[in-house]
Amino acid sequence: MLNTIQRNWFDQYMVPCFSPANFIPIVAKGSRVWDQNGKEYVDFAGGVAVNSLGHANDELKNALNFQMENMWHIGNGYTNEPVLKLAKSLVENTFADKVFFCNSGAEANEAALKIARKYALDKYGNHKNEIISFENSFHGRTLFTVTVGGQPKYSQDFAPLPQQITHLPFNDIDAIKARISEKTCAVIVEPIIGEGGVIPAEPAFLKVLRELCDQYQALLIFDEIQTGIGRTGYLYAYEEVGVAPDILTSAKGLGGGFPIGAMLVRQHIAEAFQPGSHGTTFGGNPLAAAVANKVVELVNQSEFLAGVQERHHEFMRQMSELNQRYQVFSELRGKGLLLGAELVEKYQGKAKNLTNIAAEEGLIALIAGPNVLRFAPALNIEQQDINDGFSRLESALRRFVQE
Ligand SMILES: *Cc1c(COP(=O)(O)O)cnc(C)c1O
Repeated sequence: MLNTIQRNWFDQYMVPCFSPANFIPIVAKGSRVWDQNGKEYVDFAGGVAVNSLGHANDELKNALNFQMENMWHIGNGYTNEPVLKLAKSLVENTFADKVFFCNSGAEANEAALKIARKYALDKYGNHKNEIISFENSFHGRTLFTVTVGGQPKYSQDFAPLPQQITHLPFNDIDAIKARISEKTCAVIVEPIIGEGGVIPAEPAFLKVLRELCDQYQALLIFDEIQTGIGRTGYLYAYEEVGVAPDILTSAKGLGGGFPIGAMLVRQHIAEAFQPGSHGTTFGGNPLAAAVANKVVELVNQSEFLAGVQERHHEFMRQMSELNQRYQVFSELRGKGLLLGAELVEKYQGKAKNLTNIAAEEGLIALIAGPNVLRFAPALNIEQQDINDGFSRLESALRRFVQE
């Protein structure tokens, strides 16, 4: 078959801030993907925790088709039915009272950090502006969010950077106790550090963050962009710990593959944004909201969420079985279907090599930093897909330990 569109066009025409695989996926259904050559892959990546209901889900297609026939975009001089329905549903199912919609995770965090600063300014004055974040965290790629993120390699080349941002070691209760003060306006944390290595926060750590934020009148922001919408077996991960934030950000899986982001807040914080304080052209557009409504409806059912937990155990079982045979991982961790496998000393820095070999064997997987293999498959991935995926992973591991 002659492909008129070629992979090398990426190198020729696109800004090289990614290094995509050397094949081009063109069709996908459920947890299977096919490339230009008709080669099939099992998908353990889920578009990086985005395709929460798998590819080309029929119910999402129907929701999108219905909205497509009616109205695509109207702008913020008007509201629209899908976005009202989505806001109501997110409020009714979480700690939050109000929602702001945008198009991505970074924008959701940008809104969260901006509203935290404005809330503190309005209420306490301009001395209260410090934002505390954690090492290895990831919060997006705008200048503000990349600076708040705890990976200096992503921000240092873009200086001068936003000020009054502090990074502390993750899961370190003493460090936050020593640092937080009257000047702190917000603490932002991922309940499970995602991009930075799939590292769950200790429940005790999150509880202390809540207590300290209350004590110092700082806002607690949970970045649930990766952990939200059923990913950990709960609609949002905070439910399991029983610690509610003041602000929560959501994106990735919320649209099931259609771009949308959301910032969820409590009432008194929402009031810091008045007409003119913040905005977006596309945020809350009817197409995205229509799809997200269907995603939330399908995911937020106890049976569906129990299915995520079952799949968690199945993934862990098959992973540890493989690891007994190949001894490549020092730790298997994560919750629900956000899973990480840390490579042993001998294979440090080789996670990308492993996913490259896996792709050759017909398995799409992710990394989380240079040493961690990460899975974030569709939350409804089928047993046959899991089995085939692991048998392909086994072929990949066999080659990986030899090479
Ligand atoms: C992916 C991610 C973001 C950024 O989301 P974008 O949609 O890429 O802007 C922020 N925080 C976390 C925890 C993420 O996983």
